[in-house]
Amino acid sequence: MHALDAIFRPQSVAVIGASSKDRTIGKEIVRNLIAYEFQGPIFPVNPQAKVVHSIKCYKSVMEIPDPVDLAIIVVPSKFVLQVAEECGQKGIKGLVVITAGFKEIGETGLEREKQLSAVLHKYGMRMIGPNCMGVINTHADIKLDATFAPTQPIPGHVGFMSQSGALGVAILEIARELNLGISMFASMGNKTDISGNDLLEYWRDDPETKMILMYLESFGNPRKFTQIAKSIARTKPIISVKAGRTLQGAAAASSHTGALASSLDVATDAMFEKCGVIRVSSIDELFNLAAAFDAQPLPKDNRIAIVTNAGGPAIMATDALISSGMRLATLEESTKQHLRQHLPPEASANNPVDLIASADEHRYKIALEAVLRDPNVDAVIAIFVPPIMITANAVAQTIIDMHRQYADKPVLSCFMGQQEGRQAIALLRQNKIPVYFFPEHTVYALKAMDQYRRWREKPEGTIKTFDVDRKAVEQILSQAKSENRKQLSFSEVTSILNAYHFPLPAHTTVPLDGKGLKEAVEFSKSTGGSVVLKLLAADLTHKSDVGGVKIDLRTEKEIADAFSEFEMKMKERHIRPDGVLVQEMIKGGKELVLGMNVDKNFGALIMFGLGGIYVEVLKDVSFSIAPITDLEAHEMIKSIKGYPLLTGVRGQMPVNIDAIAEALQRLSQLVTDFPDIREIDINPLLVFHEKEKCKVVDARIGLI
Ligand code: ADP
Ligand code: MG
Repeated sequence: MHALDAIFRPQSVAVIGASSKDRTIGKEIVRNLIAYEFQGPIFPVNPQAKVVHSIKCYKSVMEIPDPVDLAIIVVPSKFVLQVAEECGQKGIKGLVVITAGFKEIGETGLEREKQLSAVLHKYGMRMIGPNCMGVINTHADIKLDATFAPTQPIPGHVGFMSQSGALGVAILEIARELNLGISMFASMGNKTDISGNDLLEYWRDDPETKMILMYLESFGNPRKFTQIAKSIARTKPIISVKAGRTLQGAAAASSHTGALASSLDVATDAMFEKCGVIRVSSIDELFNLAAAFDAQPLPKDNRIAIVTNAGGPAIMATDALISSGMRLATLEESTKQHLRQHLPPEASANNPVDLIASADEHRYKIALEAVLRDPNVDAVIAIFVPPIMITANAVAQTIIDMHRQYADKPVLSCFMGQQEGRQAIALLRQNKIPVYFFPEHTVYALKAMDQYRRWREKPEGTIKTFDVDRKAVEQILSQAKSENRKQLSFSEVTSILNAYHFPLPAHTTVPLDGKGLKEAVEFSKSTGGSVVLKLLAADLTHKSDVGGVKIDLRTEKEIADAFSEFEMKMKERHIRPDGVLVQEMIKGGKELVLGMNVDKNFGALIMFGLGGIYVEVLKDVSFSIAPITDLEAHEMIKSIKGYPLLTGVRGQMPVNIDAIAEALQRLSQLVTDFPDIREIDINPLLVFHEKEKCKVVDARIGLI
């Protein structure tokens, strides 16, 4: 037996705070339990009432002669602790605490919540809530509706968790309207004991639950969520509404990665992407997708056929398809011929198949059957704009019949004109054909299915472990920590990059004086080419902003001029220089930025993008959460808009993508090995066609 069985599969239920007064939660819950025909005994408990809903009422749980698995608690908050204590003594194993007035109201509530936790631990009880609207299990052996929502759930295969109670009521109502069957439902409340993660694990192993919907406001433990969700999403789709984060921290973040990460709310996206969770931004969208996933098989690929009786909506659907990265199916010649033979000459036998306004159910049958049979078609969108004369119901029935006959291909319908189509829409929903009122919504649902299928088919990839010198980094970090420094010096950064075998250009550091100048000139001779001089000082984060970077210096004079300029700058600004970095000049590469920023909830976020103006202006970057696999590294690179610039446009040589992927994975290993690193900016990494020439020419590392 699972610990959560006491809550979701109880043999008997007590309702503590049951009431005979109208319009009280205590009455509604008992009513729902009875009306939904709970398969075990119900025990109302209330010291003041004798009978609730014609059932004998007990003064306390202690008085109930039979064993009780689950207690629903709806007493005022000041009585909750005492009641919970009694439940423990009675041997009850599961609690659902509806009562509010806990941590959501501040200090006193928080204290009460802590005490409640202590009672749970003392007796080994598990709890949903407090401050929630209850739980549901529609399974025929259980039939538990322990909520005060007015809507009775339809049994089905959707596990639904909601962090908002009020929304929970609305959700149940919409689900019923859409004929979306629920397996289990939980309003999570304050998540004091049972977390969203616990519930996900529970539903992973529940054979009735085939899809999970979530309304989330926060993650308790995002890293654990990632693990669990990833394992579930391989077999059961998870769709989640997650309200966006605020811009908090954006101002505080000093690195590119940090600022971009917080401004784009990428952490949640990166995490969902990693674990295959489908993120939506509204409840509306949540249900749009759920209706499709619940009722239809996943498409095998993204070649879509459209059957319509009106041109406009088909064009809109086509536009949405193409911009969503899907394709209009190219129909087989035989399909087109068949259509031409059986449709009137004004109709279009090409995809979108336009049956024109006079189309009746027979014409729909011809077209739907033809495209569903066509091997070039992976999914079908049936659009219907009800004209006068034609009965929508008959067309709906044809769509249903055709889908039944070719059940392995998804069919989604778009019925515009909700008034005329009312009955037809209900008929379609009853028969598991998702209905949308706009062509775009139909397409977005298909797109989500297509993306999910792709995620599922994707190989897992491996997290590579490179041979590195961990000890060296350990020493540098503990030294910096003992001096309470948050920013590492250039030489420390260089040592760390060396220890993890990032390719660096030849360089030397010299003092900013006559002796240093001599050394710089000597170094430049030894490299044989031109050099770059960079002013090093502790307070100088962006060197080129203050003219602290001089590139492509070829002669002694140019180097000497740069030195004098640096000296003047230091005097003007009263900054003490740490020295001058002399680097070999790397010519002709493409500039990339690699970064990492620790998100306090999600851990190390790795960033990739084109460097220079691309990162500043276009924000063309991608993110993933460390540790990243080899495949994720390649995906990060591919997913930026500027990717074609790397593969070689207009006769340019392509750069070495593997070298970039390797640098990303080494970065991932470094930050996973050392959680004390708060941020890294490698900007730029210069990349070339040949791997050997790729070099990190500038980097910064900050500590927690
Ligand atoms: P900062 O970011 O502090 O301003 P960088 O060291 O990144 O300073 O240098 C600024 C720019 O100068 C780089 O983006 C790159 O275009 C160029 N640059 C710096 N070092 C080199 C080098 N060794 N070879 C070629 N170009 C360089
Ligand atoms: Mg830089």
